[in-house]
Amino acid sequence: MQMEKGKIYDYNTVPTPCFVVEEELLKKNLEILKNVIDRTGCHILLAQKCFSMYHTYPLLSKYLSGTTASGLYEAKLGKEYFGKETHVYSAAYRDDEIDELLDICDHIVFNSFSQWNRFKDKAKKKDIKCGLRINPKCSTQEGHAIYDPCAPYSRMGITNENFDRENLEGISGLHFHTLCEQNSDDLLTTIKSVKEQFSDVLKEMEWINFGGGHHITRKDYDIECLVDCINEMKEEYGLEVYLEPGEAVALDAGFMISTVLDIVSNGIDIAIVDTSAACHMPDVIEMPYTPQLAEAVRIVAAGGETYDKDLSVKSMMEEQETFKLYRIGGPTCLAGDVIGDYIFDRDLKIGDRLTFKDMAIYSMVKTNTFNGMRLPAIAYKDKEGIKIIKKFGYEDFKNRL
Ligand SMILES: *Cc1c(COP(=O)(O)O)cnc(C)c1O
Repeated sequence: MQMEKGKIYDYNTVPTPCFVVEEELLKKNLEILKNVIDRTGCHILLAQKCFSMYHTYPLLSKYLSGTTASGLYEAKLGKEYFGKETHVYSAAYRDDEIDELLDICDHIVFNSFSQWNRFKDKAKKKDIKCGLRINPKCSTQEGHAIYDPCAPYSRMGITNENFDRENLEGISGLHFHTLCEQNSDDLLTTIKSVKEQFSDVLKEMEWINFGGGHHITRKDYDIECLVDCINEMKEEYGLEVYLEPGEAVALDAGFMISTVLDIVSNGIDIAIVDTSAACHMPDVIEMPYTPQLAEAVRIVAAGGETYDKDLSVKSMMEEQETFKLYRIGGPTCLAGDVIGDYIFDRDLKIGDRLTFKDMAIYSMVKTNTFNGMRLPAIAYKDKEGIKIIKKFGYEDFKNRL
C-alpha cells in the first residue's frame, strides 16, 4: 500500500501493520501524572525503555519533568528530543560510554559499590548527582519472577548486607525499583521496608527515586495513597522525590492495526494476520499475556493454550452458535507465534482489520525483524487524523545484519 507523506488516514485506511498512538489518550494520562506533580512537588520522569516514540516528546515534556534512560542511547534521545531532566540507571556502565553519560545526564544511578568506585572520580568532577540503587529484598509481586528485581539472587541493586555506609561521600540519593504494573499499596509496603533498613542513610540524602512500575493511570490506582507516600517521604527526610514510570505514561494510548492475510483450519479456525507476536509484540510470548482485541467479543485464552481447557467457552460456543472462535497468529515460521484465541460475533474474512489494544508500551520498543518481518509503521493520531510518522522497509532489515 502506498504511504504518502503528510497524508491523513483513518483506522480503515492506515497501512498495516501499524502502531497508532493517540494524542487524546496520551493527554489523559499526562493530566493525571501532572496532577500528582502539582499536588506533591515530586518529579515524574518518562522511563524511555517502555515508550520512546520521540515524536511525542514535545507534548510529554509539557507535563513531565524529564526522562530516564537505561544507557547511553536512551539518554541521548531524551536529552535531544525531550530536554528537561535526564537521568540514567544501568546495571553496569561501559568505560567507553561513561564520559558522554556524565556530560549529558543530571542524575546517574549506580548498581553497585564496585561501579561507584570505578567511576566516582570522574563523576565528582562533573555537575551530576550520583545515586545508588538499593535492593530492599521486598517482593510485592507474584508470578512474574523475571519482572521482580527483589527475587532471590537478583543482580538489581545493593542489599542492606552489602551496603557500605562508609563509602557515601559524593552520593546524594537512593534509588529503588521493585514494582511492575502495581498499585500504591505495594509502594507503601516497599517504602516501609526501605525505611526499616535504610532510614539512617535516607537522613543523609537529598533525593530518593521510587523507580517505575506504578500503574498510576490505571482506573483502580489509588492516587491518594501515592500522594501520601511522596509527601511523607518529603516531610520525614526532607527528600526530593522522583518517580520514573514507563507504562503509566502511555498506558492504553496506542493500538496495533493488523490485517487478516489468511484463514485456515486445524481443529480450530485460525486467522493469520500481518502482525507477529514474536516480532511486533514479543511480550505476548515473553510475559506472557493476551492483548485485548477491539473487534473480539472476548479473549478466550493466552496464546498457545487450547480452548478445550476452557470449559466455560465450550458451553458458550454450544449455546450461541453465532459466536465464532478464532486463534490469531502471525506469519512467521515460529509455531508459537500465536497472539491468542478470541471469540467474535461474526466470521472473519481475509482483508479484515484487527485492532490490538494497549500497544504503545513495550511493544514498539521491542520489535525485531526475525524472519525478515516488516517492522510496523508508526503513526500518530491528532485532531486532524492519523499521520504516518515512520515507515520501515527492506533497508531497515538489511542494515542490522
Ligand atoms: C522498567 C523500569 C522502569 C519503568 O517501569 P514501568 O513498569 O514501565 O513503569 C523504571 N525504572 C527502572 C529502573 C526500570 O527498570
